Formats: sequence, structure tokens, C-alpha cells
Amino acid sequence: MKVEFYKHGVGDAELKAIAEVLRTPFLTTGETVNRFEQEFVRHIGAPHAVGVMSCTHALQLALLAEGIGPGDEVITTPLTFIATANVIELTGARTVFADVDARTGCIHPAEVSRRITDRTRAIICVHLYGHLCDMKSLRRIADARNLALIEDCAHAVESERDGVKSGQLGDYSAFSFYATKNLTSGEGGAVGVKTPKAAELLRQLRNHGMSRNAAQRYAGAYEHWDMDHLGMKCNMNNIQAAMLLTQLPGLQARLARREEICRRYEQAFKGVSGLAFPEVLPGAKSARHLFTIWVDRARRDNVLAGLQKREVGVAVNYRAVHLMKYYNERYKTRRGEHPHAEEICDRTITLPLYPTLTDAEIDYVIESVIASIK
Ligand SMILES: *Cc1c(COP(=O)(O)O)cnc(C)c1O
Repeated sequence: MKVEFYKHGVGDAELKAIAEVLRTPFLTTGETVNRFEQEFVRHIGAPHAVGVMSCTHALQLALLAEGIGPGDEVITTPLTFIATANVIELTGARTVFADVDARTGCIHPAEVSRRITDRTRAIICVHLYGHLCDMKSLRRIADARNLALIEDCAHAVESERDGVKSGQLGDYSAFSFYATKNLTSGEGGAVGVKTPKAAELLRQLRNHGMSRNAAQRYAGAYEHWDMDHLGMKCNMNNIQAAMLLTQLPGLQARLARREEICRRYEQAFKGVSGLAFPEVLPGAKSARHLFTIWVDRARRDNVLAGLQKREVGVAVNYRAVHLMKYYNERYKTRRGEHPHAEEICDRTITLPLYPTLTDAEIDYVIESVIASIK
């Protein structure tokens, strides 16, 4: 048996929705994007959303809106995809890493507090694998020091914890609609914000800081436009929005299937020696974006090879960002600086997790994992 690491669920509904957009004169940011933004906020904790080209752009727009740059510091986690830290580097600010909670892999509020200096301007937390960070504590820390709190919600459209939803407490929340995410338009993203004013600024910043967007410019008679701010070019288009709109109604049903798969993995792996996995804490509802296991440090790469030999698709989410060549050279980082993150990064393996995974495939993955760690 061969089990793919990931299969998207995009099909006829998306084809139909894209065809409808293609029959209209307007392909870029217009009515379909507006509709997506309005529908999307019904699923998250932020009241306003601005559609962009990727989560990376969403994070960049947040930092741009905050005016973060050289001389500033931004605190984030080393247990994430490199994008979360790279956007800080691209502003010219310094990336300051803070260790994670050993149970979930999410940034630890006490570690964040410890890293704050007079130069700190923002915190970017990551809801790892779909598990919400301790947002109440992070919000308190940010408020006490007047820092911007930015949520990387790339894994976390459907997440909740202690009554808090994804995007609810952050000043900005960055969502990803990349090819393998729980909602996808191949590439895409959105920024969640709290006020209409913040949303308006981001709508300008996603399009060069222009005072009028394309839909406004071409809707009626020509009018001159101005440039109010220095912005980027990363506006979501109607084709992406049409795909995403078709997927929103099935969001919870697809989560329910992923939850079922995770429970089966957890049942099967519980108590197996040499095998562990992150916890979903009491009070938390995980978006179940990725399912990871932790094996013995020294054996991780062997287990990875063993699973691939059995044709089980695997990945590593993630190797520690502070130890990547670029960060190591720039900040002279050393092993041991963030022990909890490093331990997870050295032990972790990601297993297949998507709604169309069959029961027979799940059983085969379980059997292969247990055989590979022996
Ligand atoms: C996928 C991902 C990103 C980047 O998303 P893009 O939409 O590809 O820019 C950022 N952070 C995390 C944690 C991710 O998994």
C-alpha cells in the first residue's frame, strides 16, 4: 500500500466557482473577494479580514502597518515554518526567539516575558499544528509593554482555547490558504484585524498604498487616485476567493474527519514505548492541521526512512529555525538555547492527515509506525 502525505480535496465545486469568475470581466480583487472576507470572519475570532496572496504577505503587512524596522526586536518561536521569522528579518528588525511549552510546542508566555527588552515591538506567536497558544497570557504581556500581538494562524482557522478563538485576541492574525492548508486556493492568505480602520489601512497596504483599488477605479467614470502610504502588492484575486468560498461551508465537517483520524492515531500510539505525541490541552479545540509523533532523538531519521520504505508519506514540521544556517550565522545561535523546541524538532515526524484518508490507510500508517520504531 502507498499512502500519500497529502491529497487536496479540491474538485468540481471549485471548478464551477472559478468558471463563474472567469465569465465575468473582473478577475482581480473585487466583489468575490469582498464576499469571501465577509464570510471568512464568521469562522474566526477577528471581526475583519483582508484577503492577500499568502500568510507570509499577511505577516509582512502586519509588520508594515506597525512600522517595524531596523533597531526593533520582534519575539517569535523557533518551532515554526521559516516564514514566521523571515518576515521579521525582511523588515531589518532583529528576530528574538523564545522557547516553547514542551506539551504543545506553542511559544511559552514566560519565555516571551524573559526576552522582552526596551527595543521589543511585537510578538508573533504560532498556533502550532492547530493548537492555540495561551492567548490570554500573551495578550496580558503585550498590553503591559504596549507590544503588537500578531498570531500566525497558518494552521489554525478552526482553533479555540479557553473560550478564545483564532484571531480573537491578537492585533493581527495571519491565515494561510497555501496548497496543503485546511482551506486552500493553491496560494493565498488573509489578515484578521479588530477595527474597520485597521482593515482599511491593510486594504491600501496590500495594493501599493493606493487610495482607490481596481474595482473602485474601473467601476464608474475615471477619477484620479493618490498614493497615501508605501505599500506592497499582494491583494487576493476573485479566482482565489471563489475557490475559498466553496470550501467554507464544509470546514467543520472536514475538521470532524481529521479529528477522528487523530483520535485513531492517538489510541493506537498511547502507551507504545519509544513513541509520544503533542497534547491537546483541556479546554482546547485543535484545528488538527498536522499530526506529529515524537520518537527517540537518535532514531528519528531511521524511522523517517523506514516509513518511506513502506511508502508512507512523511514530513518534518519543523527543524529548529534558530539553528538554520542563516539564523546561526546572523545571531551566532547555539544548540541548547531553546531546549524544549530543540527536543521536539529533533524527535518529530509528521504523518498523513487529510479528510479523504481511508480507514485502511490509517491502519497501514499505524502498523508502519509501530514496525518502524521497533
Ligand atoms: C504555511 C505556513 C506559513 C506560510 O504560509 P504561506 O501562505 O505559504 O505564506 C507561515 N507559517 C506557518 C506556521 C505555516 O505553516
